[in-house]
Amino acid sequence: MMITKMLLTPNNYSRPQIPLKRVTKIAVHYVGNAGSSAEGNRNYFESLKDGKHGYASSHYIVGLKGEIIQCVPENEWAYCTNEANAYSISIENCHPKDDGKFTEKTRQSLTELCADICVRYGLDPLKDIIRHYDVTGKLCPLYWVNHPQNFAAFKQEVKDFIEKVIINNEQFVLKNEKE
Ligand SMILES: [Zn+2]
Repeated sequence: MMITKMLLTPNNYSRPQIPLKRVTKIAVHYVGNAGSSAEGNRNYFESLKDGKHGYASSHYIVGLKGEIIQCVPENEWAYCTNEANAYSISIENCHPKDDGKFTEKTRQSLTELCADICVRYGLDPLKDIIRHYDVTGKLCPLYWVNHPQNFAAFKQEVKDFIEKVIINNEQFVLKNEKE
């Protein structure tokens, strides 16, 4: 798993540098802009620093080819999940079409990223990975609101990945801690 750090410039609208003191959930999202790239969405968050277009950001964005961009450090708030901002790490995901379904490469990277975060914070993937929908009722990520059984299968894949890959391969976790 490769994570490219492209941290946002500290500003009041997308990187307010409010300390994230506890992480008890991972909140997954879809960008809602079919065909857009991880870097394009990151640059959109950066552009909000002028204060003219509201508040938004996420800790991570997973792109259509499975690339992962980090926008906000995990020990700071992102403006992504409303009242859950105070206790969640947020992950936006790109999608090729308006139905919001993720590509296999996006899904695989999201699986690995969620597994890594769950291990580092002691989270249970079946209970602690949530949709934006679960917090506010927003239709996000759209495909997993419309196909809850597919979301349940995803969470199980994260659990399986932790058990089969991470627990049996400590280097995976150590490698990511250095990034
Ligand atoms: Zn969302």
